[in-house]
Amino acid sequence: MSAMNEPSTGKDAFEPTCPFCRSSDVERESAFGSEISKAQYYCHNCQTMFERLKYDGKRPDTGR
Ligand SMILES: [Zn+2]
Repeated sequence: MSAMNEPSTGKDAFEPTCPFCRSSDVERESAFGSEISKAQYYCHNCQTMFERLKYDGKRPDTGR
């Protein structure tokens, strides 16, 4: 248990979590930065790599 009080606010709104174990202890891998629309992450909890699509505030569907 950590006694440090880390404020969640002020950080990135995009908080990636592992789709397998739902852990937030993930690290972004920039080795595969060829595709800017994708981001690779490495989960330290289950030691699994996964990739997530980055939504730059735009949604594929147009119109409202
Ligand atoms: Zn995981």
